[in-house]
Amino acid sequence: MSRHILVLADLRNGKVRNVTFEMLTAAVNIADGGEVSAALIGHDVAKHADLLAHYGANRVFVVDQEPLANYVPDGYANALEAVIKEANPDVVFLAHSAIGRDVAPKLAARFDAGQVSDIIKIETNGDQLVFTRPIYAGKAFTKVAIKDGLKFVTVRPNNLSKTEPDSSRTANVVSLNVQIPADSLRTLVKEVVRKSTQGVDLSEAKIIVSGGRGVKSAEGFQVLQELANVLGAAVGASRGACDAGYCDYAMQIGQTGKVVTPDLYIACGISGAIQHLAGMSNSKVIVAINKDPEAPIFKVADYGIVGDLFQVVPLLTEELKKV
Ligand code: FAD
Repeated sequence: MSRHILVLADLRNGKVRNVTFEMLTAAVNIADGGEVSAALIGHDVAKHADLLAHYGANRVFVVDQEPLANYVPDGYANALEAVIKEANPDVVFLAHSAIGRDVAPKLAARFDAGQVSDIIKIETNGDQLVFTRPIYAGKAFTKVAIKDGLKFVTVRPNNLSKTEPDSSRTANVVSLNVQIPADSLRTLVKEVVRKSTQGVDLSEAKIIVSGGRGVKSAEGFQVLQELANVLGAAVGASRGACDAGYCDYAMQIGQTGKVVTPDLYIACGISGAIQHLAGMSNSKVIVAINKDPEAPIFKVADYGIVGDLFQVVPLLTEELKKV
């Protein structure tokens, strides 16, 4: 059955995030000869339309307005509502990011539509789309299908595969003149203070070196940063480490932090509490370094090193520098 899938491009710091290409690739696979379109919402965003075309969008709807330069909930919701009314899709894909998580349920309510959140796999069963999503903090998986009507789906980054871009592909760009006067917005962003994880976006990183309370200090995290630099990795943390003031909460991974699915997750001095596992247990390969052989993190680890992280991590860094 052919379908029309609309993908909301996920933008961060003026760049299109990888999850957008993963969503477009999935959209092409399940459209079954139908349409794949994309929405670009923000300010000075039309320049990204070609890139979305290279990953399979046939039409790109652009809402480019100054008040949308930063994410504002009602502004984005109004803009996406206008795009959906114009495009008339069967399914809307959004990233399971801060923006997608916020805007998807608003729109699902406005359109009286179904929503599935945080999906990691899509299958077809006859005419139905079946989505797999983790439940119980990642301990189990459930398959969900929405029977009929418009569907809103948020997609966990780093789970669906993405195709190679084809630069010969072009899209029909449709600019929508949605009226979003700045004074109609209930929320106004006055200033954006960016917290960085030293260059690599944690939720899209292929390799993460993560530290817990066992790292013992902010200076201790420098040891992890050196390993991360050699691997081209991002540095993450447990809530234990954040609560202790060793690092910023922007780095927290887990149930109340970021959910990550890197190819390689190196957990250093992290015990493996269920709330931490909720954010990283779907990583493809997990390496745990902990001096306690009974630490629960070893139950989910593919490779475990029982030892003092301040001895093990510098040794790993030195060896990897030689590769
Ligand atoms: P600890 O449990 O103290 O573990 C430290 C580990 O370091 C130990 O296993 C120890 O053996 C090891 N260690 C010590 N020294 C060394 C050394 N030199 N070398 C090697 N190993 C060493 N936690 C999260 O991480 N993310 C969340 O999103 C999150 N959300 C939560 C939400 C709720 C509602 C609640 C109640 C809790 C949440 N937590 C979360 C907290 C969680 O329960 C744990 O308290 C936390 O994950 C523990 O952090 P930790 O593993 O760094 O510290």
